[in-house]
Amino acid sequence: MQFLPVPQEVCVGDGSSVQVTAKLRAAVAKALETRESAAPVRLKIEPAEIEDLPGLPPTCVGQAYVLDATAKTITITAGGAAGLFYGLQTLVQLVDQTQDGTSLPAVSIVDYPALQWRGLQYDLARRMVYRHEHMKDVIRHMAALKLNMLHLYLEGRFSFPSHPELHQPGWMTPAEARDLCAFAKAHHVVLVPEVNCLGHMEQILHVDPNKHLREDPADSYMICPSNPQSLPFVLALVDDLVDAFDTPYIHIGMDEVPKLGFCSACRARLQKDGHPGKMLAEHINAIAAHLRQRGRRSLMWGDMLLDSMQFPGAHAANGGVTGWGSLNYTAKALEWLDRDVVICDWQYAHFSPDEMDYLRALGFDLMPAIDSDERGCPWGPVRGIDFHIRNFFDAAKESGAIGAFTTTWSLHMGEVFNNRWLDFAKSAETMWSRHSYESEEFGQRFCSLFFGMDEALIPYLDTGIKIDVLPNSMRLVPYLLKLDQPWRIFGPPQWGSDPIKPLGSPAQLIAAKEQYLVQWRKTVKCASRRAHLLDAMDVPLRVDILAMRMFHLRASIAGIYSHAEKHAGEPLVQAWCRDALLTGIDGLMRDAECLRRRFACLYETFGNDGEDVVKSERFLVVLQGMREKLATAEKLPPKADWCPAELA
Ligand SMILES: [Zn+2]
Repeated sequence: MQFLPVPQEVCVGDGSSVQVTAKLRAAVAKALETRESAAPVRLKIEPAEIEDLPGLPPTCVGQAYVLDATAKTITITAGGAAGLFYGLQTLVQLVDQTQDGTSLPAVSIVDYPALQWRGLQYDLARRMVYRHEHMKDVIRHMAALKLNMLHLYLEGRFSFPSHPELHQPGWMTPAEARDLCAFAKAHHVVLVPEVNCLGHMEQILHVDPNKHLREDPADSYMICPSNPQSLPFVLALVDDLVDAFDTPYIHIGMDEVPKLGFCSACRARLQKDGHPGKMLAEHINAIAAHLRQRGRRSLMWGDMLLDSMQFPGAHAANGGVTGWGSLNYTAKALEWLDRDVVICDWQYAHFSPDEMDYLRALGFDLMPAIDSDERGCPWGPVRGIDFHIRNFFDAAKESGAIGAFTTTWSLHMGEVFNNRWLDFAKSAETMWSRHSYESEEFGQRFCSLFFGMDEALIPYLDTGIKIDVLPNSMRLVPYLLKLDQPWRIFGPPQWGSDPIKPLGSPAQLIAAKEQYLVQWRKTVKCASRRAHLLDAMDVPLRVDILAMRMFHLRASIAGIYSHAEKHAGEPLVQAWCRDALLTGIDGLMRDAECLRRRFACLYETFGNDGEDVVKSERFLVVLQGMREKLATAEKLPPKADWCPAELA
């Protein structure tokens, strides 16, 4: 018997066994659909029988359940509707891993979450458009992993009724929010929308009617907390979210604000009464008080509240990661900050063991957050992702955090939310269970239970995707297909500088990635459940292959011209050299066309960056132009005649 996440306690019973029949399967499916007993499955909600379970956090009674499977009946006793739902998810896993006619040993399972809130964050702000059906699909699979919070990172990409000037086609609407909330509720998932109320407000402050609220008139990043119109402005935004989302929490951002105190009004205020930390706390407290009046609690990011002089080992202190850091001592805001605000202490690469205890000791509730993707997070976890997931969430549990979540950022150029379910499942298990997973065993169990495949194929494919083509490829790849000088971005590859060792020459890397492409096709066929979640795992591989093809062509040009020079008087050799270059360009065009189609598909299905499609179209035009010049020349033309300057 296997489970995902692993329950707190599994006791094999009296030696009798449970026959798995088509009738039992139908009963389980019916119970899951109706949430009512369907013989031989009995469901009951009895908090009094549950609340004294040893180790059960008092806030998690409603999510706890006891599942007793005997030869005659299967009984799920739960502390609440969520517990019943989770008991049924466990039962589904039990019957799914057997075939009709086989039997399971009688078993008793005692289970509850270690953390009350276990979440995923979806970055819908960075170049994404909203896709309702995809989001429902995400919620379905979250529920199967017993995740119960979906944080929607919106920035300005919501059709705020109070601000029609911000509306654009493809932004999530209030009607969609209401429908999604109802859908999520049926899966015991809560939606937590985020609108940034201080920094990261470009999508809101870039339009003319809102420009006067900027902290720096030349920069749409941040709103001025001293402008008397700013608070009513952000309260209107959060009110729109309160109206549209049936949720206990609204996330108000507050991360990465290096310019606090930039404008003359803010500077005058600082000189008169105080401290940037106080200014920050006053802004947050005003929003939090308003939200409390409306029955909601505020969540905020924690980076501005940790001082890197106090926590040098914390990745995000003093307002964020490298490049965002500020020295304006906002950590002092903790002195004045409303204790009702929940702090999302986010540490993507490394964290200090004491920081969560420190914030807890000051009286704050916490929901710490990590980025669980080494590739998507260029500053990546230094000791590997499994080490980071386990340590971080274990620290969250030990600190008494009310929840935690894992984040995804900037999904474009081959980064796809659905390619991350392995990381999500690891996070889900660590947030739910007291048990600690072992990487290899987890991969096997995940593939078996989540995708219904016999072999642990996903971790293998995941590694193939993560073999990095370029150091920091996350930052370079978005520029890959820029019309102007697409080759310019590539410096010489610095092999060996990445934690996952690159393999050598561009040709070797292409070969490796192509093998993973073959593996991907096989893997999709092996999945008997949720195979559609694997549909886009080829895309990051194809992006890397295209990048390496560009390298390969550039590296080949010099050699081909040198060969042509040695055989200057031989027209046949000149023609062969020209044809070799044409062949290289044709290969690039095939790959680029394939990617164009894949990007179009991602845009339609998931709402991934539509610009990816446009960029790949423009790149094809560039290649076509190069090809024509080369093909119509009588013999091998000078480099400058056909290829862009940065390539020649
Ligand atoms: Zn200001």
